[in-house]
Amino acid sequence: MPRADGIRLSRPEVALGAGIVVALGSDTCPLGEVYRVAQWLASQSAGQCGPCVFGTAALVDDFGRLLNGDPAGWHDAQRHLGLVPGRGACAHPDGSARFLASALEAFGDDVRAHLAGGCGRAVLGVLPVPGGAW
Ligand code: SF4
Repeated sequence: MPRADGIRLSRPEVALGAGIVVALGSDTCPLGEVYRVAQWLASQSAGQCGPCVFGTAALVDDFGRLLNGDPAGWHDAQRHLGLVPGRGACAHPDGSARFLASALEAFGDDVRAHLAGGCGRAVLGVLPVPGGAW
C-alpha cells in the first residue's frame, strides 16, 4: 500500500503515481489545472518517438478543446489515450496518458460542466509546473 509522509492510501487499487498529493481546493478549475500540467508534460518530450511527440501534443490539443466545450475534444482524447501508451521508447507518454485519463475520470462532473458551457472557475495555477508560465 503506497505511503507518503502522513498519507496512507487505503484503497489497494490506488497508486501514488509520481508520489505527490496536492489538494486543488474548490476555487480553481481542475481541468484547467490538468491542462497546464499536460502542456508541460508535452514540452518535456525528448523529441525522439513519434507517439510521444505527436501523441502528447494531440492530447494537449484535445484537452484544450474540451476545456472550450468542444465534445470532439473529449472523443479525440479518448481515442488518443488508447493509442499513446506503450509506444514510446520510455514511459514518459505512458505516465502522461495515465495522468490525463485519471483526470477525465476523477473530474467527470467538471468535464460535463465544460461541455455544457464551462465550470465558471478560473485556473489559479494550484498544480505546480516548472517555470509556472504554462
Ligand atoms: S517516449 Fe521517451 S524516449 Fe521517446 S521521445 Fe518521449 S521522452 Fe523521448
